[in-house]
Amino acid sequence: MADNIECPKCGKKTVVQRKGDLYECLSCDFKRDFSELPEQPKSNNGGVFWTTVVATIVALLFLQARDVASKAPKLEPQSFHAPVTVQPTIN
Ligand SMILES: [Zn+2]
Repeated sequence: MADNIECPKCGKKTVVQRKGDLYECLSCDFKRDFSELPEQPKSNNGGVFWTTVVATIVALLFLQARDVASKAPKLEPQSFHAPVTVQPTIN
């Protein structure tokens, strides 16, 4: 099987997967548990993924709010005009 990974410590392709995320070099004492490392690419990709998701949601909400805000002033002056024009006659 092409399961061997090059060891970053001794450079030999003798790194084997022990169990789950635990990798061990047969030539030296190199060990790496990918499930414990915080700098693993998996979590980085997840962070980028969630940042993208949050950014997309924020962008959509922002665009919606802008859309509502751009429509609202056009409709409200007409409905607001009546009370505003009534007030001066009371005074
Ligand atoms: Zn090694």
